[in-house]
Formats: sequence, structure tokens, C-alpha cells
Amino acid sequence: MKCYLCESELIWGGDHSYEDYCIGGDGIVANLSCPNDECDVESVFVHISNETKEEKNGKEERKD
Ligand SMILES: [Zn+2]
Repeated sequence: MKCYLCESELIWGGDHSYEDYCIGGDGIVANLSCPNDECDVESVFVHISNETKEEKNGKEERKD
């Protein structure tokens, strides 16, 4: 994945769960950083949901 400002290849710093960031649902937050010292981008967080839309709808409908 490339930095959207300088197009350097971003460095992957690690993955965390949504739970680690107090985000509801099930997914992964990937932490990337730009290696270019002259670039203003310090870090990029990519939120990857493990839930499909169907699963999310099912959860909203299920109220027991
Ligand atoms: Zn950059």
C-alpha cells in the first residue's frame, strides 16, 4: 500500500483488533507508517471489518 501524499511504500507496523480501539463489531485495525521523513503522513490506520453486511443486518434485527 502506498502513501497517498508521497507514494512511498508504507511500512506495516502491526494489527490490532477493533476491541483494542474500543470500536464495536469485529475487525482488524492495521497500523502503517510512511518511511519518508519529508512527508507529513505519520501514520495510516486501515480499518478492516470481519463482518459482512448481511451479518451486521442480522445483528440489528435480532433483539432478544
Ligand atoms: Zn508519505
